[in-house]
Amino acid sequence: MTNKLDGKALAKKIKAELQQKIQSLQNRIGRPPGLAVLMVGDNPGSAVYVRNKEKACTKVGITSFGKHFPEQTSQAELTQVIQQLNQNRQVDGILVQLPLPKHLDSTSLLYQTDPSKDVDGLHPMNLGQLIRGEKGLRSCTPAGVMRLLQEYNIELQGKQAVVLGRSILVGKPMALMLLEANSTVTIAHSRSHNLAAITKNADILVTAVGRPEMISAEMVKPGAVVIDVGINRVTDEAGNSRLVGDVEFESVAEIAEYITPVPGGIGPMTVAMLLQNTVERWSSLVE
Ligand code: NDP
Repeated sequence: MTNKLDGKALAKKIKAELQQKIQSLQNRIGRPPGLAVLMVGDNPGSAVYVRNKEKACTKVGITSFGKHFPEQTSQAELTQVIQQLNQNRQVDGILVQLPLPKHLDSTSLLYQTDPSKDVDGLHPMNLGQLIRGEKGLRSCTPAGVMRLLQEYNIELQGKQAVVLGRSILVGKPMALMLLEANSTVTIAHSRSHNLAAITKNADILVTAVGRPEMISAEMVKPGAVVIDVGINRVTDEAGNSRLVGDVEFESVAEIAEYITPVPGGIGPMTVAMLLQNTVERWSSLVE
C-alpha cells in the first residue's frame, strides 16, 4: 500500500516548533527574527509565493522586511537595497523572489547578498559548503525533501537515487544532499537518453522538471519512494485550472511505496525550510 508523504502536516509541525523557539529566545536576543523577501514586477505566480511566505512569517513571529518594487526598477537600485539589508541588524535573511524581469541580473544580486543572510542557500559560498560537506545555509527545496524523508525514516544509504532535473535551484543541490546521505546518485535531464530506463532503476526518485505528469507508472520501479517537486498549472477543457506535479499521481501511487502529493508535498516544506534557515541564523546570535 502506498503511503503519502504529508509535507503539509510536517511543515505545520516545524512551524509550531519555530514559533516556540522564537518565543523562548526573543527576550534574550532583544528582537524577533527578520526576513526580507524582495519582489520585482507583477508576476502573478511570484505574488502568490511571496504572500504565502509573508503570511507564514507572521504566523511564527518573524518580522517581514519585504518590499515590492515596480517592474522598471534598475539593477543599481536593487543592489543598493540589498547592501542596506546586509547592514541592517534587524534582518537575518534576504531572498530575491525569482523570476526577475528580463533587464535584471539575478546572479549579480545573489553575489551582492551577505552569504550569512542567504536563507535560500543559493550563494556560491553556501553551495560550496554543501559540496564540501560543511555546515552552512542549505537550499530550501532540497532541504525540505531531505527533512521529509527523514521524518518518515526512509533509508537512503546505499540506495539508488535518481534526480530528474539539474537546476541550481533544485536538481544539483538535491543530488549533493542525497550523496551526502550516502545514496548512489544519478542526475538525469533533458539530454539524457532512455529516461524511462534511468527512472525505473530508482529506489528514490526525485522529479524537478516542470512538465505536467510526465512520469507515468511504467517509468517507476514498484516499491520506489517518489518525491514530486514539480508544480505545474494545467487547465482542463472546461477551463478549470489546477496544480499537478511532474508525476502522474494516481497511477504511480498504486505502485510506489511512498509518494508526495502536489499540492501539499514539497511546496509547504520549502516555505518551512526558509523560515527554519532564518530562525537558525537568528538564534545563532546566542546559541
Ligand atoms: P528549471 O526549468 O530550472 O529546470 C528544469 C530541469 O528539468 C532542467 O534541468 C531540464 O534539463 C530538465 N528537463 C526539462 N525537460 C525535461 C525532459 N523532458 N526530460 C528530462 N528532464 C527535463 O526548473 P526548476 O528546477 O527551477 O524547477 C523544476 C520544477 O520544480 C518546476 O515545476 C518548479 O515550479 C518546481 N519547483 C517547486 C518548488 C517547490 O517548492 N515545490 C520550488 C522550486 C521549483 P536541462 O538542464 O537539460 O534543460
